[in-house]
Amino acid sequence: MIRQFELVDLIKSYDPNVDEEALDRAYVFAMKAHGQQKRESGDPYFLHPLEVAGILTDYKLDSATIVTALLHDTIEDTTATQEEIDKIFGKEVGRLVDGVTKLTRIEMQSDQANQAENFRKLLLAMSDDIRVLLVKLADRLHNMRTLHHVKKVEKRRRIAMETMDIFAPLAERIGMQEMKNELEDLAFMETNPEARDSVMARLEFLRKEGGDLVSRIKQELTKTLCGDGLKVEVMGREKLPYSIWHKMQHKDIAFEQLSDIVGFRVLVDSVDECYKALGILHRKYRVIPGRFKDYISTAKQNGYRSLHTGVLGPEQCRVEIQIRTHDMHNIAENGVAAHWTYKQNEGRTEGRQYRWIKELLDILEHAANPSEFLEHTKLEMYQDQVFCFTPRGDLINMPHGATAVDFAYAVHSEVGDRCVGAKVNSRIIPLHKELRNGDHVEILTSKAQTPSPTWERFVVTGKARARIRRFVHLQERQQYLQLGRAILQRAFREEGYEFANKALKAVLKKFNQDATDDLTSQVGAGNINARDVVEAVFPRTKKNRNKNVIPLKKTAREDISRGTSKENSKNAIPIKGLIPGMAMHYADCCHPLPGDRIVGIITTGKGVTIHTIDCDTLEEYSNTPEHWLDVSWQQQTEVPDIHVGRVHLTVVNEPGVLGTLSMVIGKNGGNISNLKITNRTLEFYDLVIDIEVQDLRHLMEIIAALRATPAINMVERAHG
Ligand code: MN
Repeated sequence: MIRQFELVDLIKSYDPNVDEEALDRAYVFAMKAHGQQKRESGDPYFLHPLEVAGILTDYKLDSATIVTALLHDTIEDTTATQEEIDKIFGKEVGRLVDGVTKLTRIEMQSDQANQAENFRKLLLAMSDDIRVLLVKLADRLHNMRTLHHVKKVEKRRRIAMETMDIFAPLAERIGMQEMKNELEDLAFMETNPEARDSVMARLEFLRKEGGDLVSRIKQELTKTLCGDGLKVEVMGREKLPYSIWHKMQHKDIAFEQLSDIVGFRVLVDSVDECYKALGILHRKYRVIPGRFKDYISTAKQNGYRSLHTGVLGPEQCRVEIQIRTHDMHNIAENGVAAHWTYKQNEGRTEGRQYRWIKELLDILEHAANPSEFLEHTKLEMYQDQVFCFTPRGDLINMPHGATAVDFAYAVHSEVGDRCVGAKVNSRIIPLHKELRNGDHVEILTSKAQTPSPTWERFVVTGKARARIRRFVHLQERQQYLQLGRAILQRAFREEGYEFANKALKAVLKKFNQDATDDLTSQVGAGNINARDVVEAVFPRTKKNRNKNVIPLKKTAREDISRGTSKENSKNAIPIKGLIPGMAMHYADCCHPLPGDRIVGIITTGKGVTIHTIDCDTLEEYSNTPEHWLDVSWQQQTEVPDIHVGRVHLTVVNEPGVLGTLSMVIGKNGGNISNLKITNRTLEFYDLVIDIEVQDLRHLMEIIAALRATPAINMVERAHG
């Protein structure tokens, strides 16, 4: 077990600015928090975070990362809370620990191997600080090193598969070759022990047979290169069993001598020297065709740079050699971690809270081949996406900002159409709430549900939007059709006719419509007047108007349907107190009716506009009393005048309700001249209706009748 001071010394050896106090506090905090907890091996649990911290010192990471490693399991496995950590260790560490905790929770949720690629993207997208991912990888590495202590076979297997599918490729993607090799080999030990044993046995045999072959080759290579005045370091390393096995599987080769599976590395100081060393080796030994690769002029996608070659070397052994500078070597082994430490030491002054993507972009600018470095564009892309789990553990990939409704439609169109609610991480959330990476989403559905037009305001996926729109259009047409039919029925009945669809056929052309349903929904939408339809079907109706309903004057009707009140020139003006010769209008905002308390407002060029005394518009004139004119209604005249009253309604969203509505108004002698749906939710619509009435009392009677109607939730007169 590493002691507190040993850990500090380790970090001091590469970072003189180490935050000793924070490390001490984290050491004690984690030790206390894990208390008597034990690993499956029987070791104290605290050994685990300590080892993880140790792994990260190999990568020379900063104090915050090491502190995070020490604390990484405290939130999930002990009684410690995020608030405590934030308070004791500050924002930066708090954020990192939170990030690692989230990755750990994700890890526990899924074991779907076919989702591997999405899963890797998810982990990358969630690691908005690369150090979070580094701690997670070190955590996994230590868990793999101690995997044999886990008693349940299925659990060992699951962890090993996950390591092979997710974490090893992830390590490779961020350039951590060393880590990748070890993770793979540890997983291999679990998933295919027989194969690994046979590779090991073969290795053992070759080692015995070759004697000290590897060090002899190493010596000769060193002598050869130094003889030409180069300062080199030569290393010989056996490949790990999994790498050998993988190579045998995929390249269909067998290994016959030890040098087949030992890689030699030549480290020099500069790029020039790399090519110089290559020249020396190619002159001295026979080159094996097809083995030479120049990853210095063209780096690999994850930033790896080296020269590779194969020669028939000392003692006629095939030898594979990688030539690189010390810097390239550091990056080849440590990947992003190497960049991180480099950047840390260089740029302390510029603040340490930069996002790792930004950092990668910085590196990119200085990389030899920017377009290939770390597939940076792809990484960046994941930051714009959000990955969420279905209850079955599948990952759904959506654009950033996606909501539960987007999720529902991504799962299946039917699920989207029928969605009534959502649970995220077992808690009910509003449908419009943005989902976050790693959320576990369960959609609640109901057969009675249909898409709501309000969803369109918050969905971000094209699929969801298209489905909702399609439905809304269909539904709107359905509503208009229903309303149109009700309006036509009433208009026909008023003239003493029974309404029939076929009656419309004869007049389709006149109204430029293709089908009777089109004409009906146009009437419902208010684009075609029902009375015009009746008159087109029965041209004589103009003369014999039904005397029981209010006589409607064509001119007044037209004014109303355009939503304006024209100067009342034909009849005696029903208003007292006007200035003779001045034009008069009824205000469109409040629709004053005989019986209302009213006031006139004089505006230049427009004459007098009559408002109700409680109209909101009057606010605008409160500081200009010179515009106000005292007016009142004349005594009721014999022939009732037609005025337009405006009401707001909230009605239940169910079939037939608009028909009921128009029936009630009709029965009470009113006539709908205009109707507009202003808002629609799952349960209700809001409507604005203009009704032709005689006076205020008449309108109030209609409002009373509407209030008595069950499907109508709220009725009130519009005030400005
Ligand atoms: Mn752990």
